[in-house]
Amino acid sequence: MLNFMRVETKCNNCGSYISFWTWAEDRIKLAMDKGEFLELRCKSCKKSGKYHVNELRAEPNKFLRLFVVLLMLVVTGVVFYFIYDILFYSTSVYSVYIVGVLVFPSIAYGILIRDLRLKRNAFNWPKLNEHN
Ligand SMILES: [Zn+2]
Repeated sequence: MLNFMRVETKCNNCGSYISFWTWAEDRIKLAMDKGEFLELRCKSCKKSGKYHVNELRAEPNKFLRLFVVLLMLVVTGVVFYFIYDILFYSTSVYSVYIVGVLVFPSIAYGILIRDLRLKRNAFNWPKLNEHN
């Protein structure tokens, strides 16, 4: 589900970063999908070149992470809105539920962030065997 990743490499000509988005889980999948060498065009110097999949690196998905953080803030906000009354007129039994309700989003957040990191590592780790 969260496999949409940004992949980058350095331009052979000017050294600026070239990046693109892919659904590929790792380099092997990307090579099967688009070929071992990818034709990429640099936005800075406008030169295109062929890049081996092993030269590509997935980078941490900042936007997706930001989205997850915002989602968690909204969820926590909504939960707070609904339990506000209970929170201030509660007995000790309710407090236990409230703690659970607040802890849950943070656990879910932790799992999602970990998942994103694993996806990135899964892309960066296996290298395609180069044919000599
Ligand atoms: Zn360039």
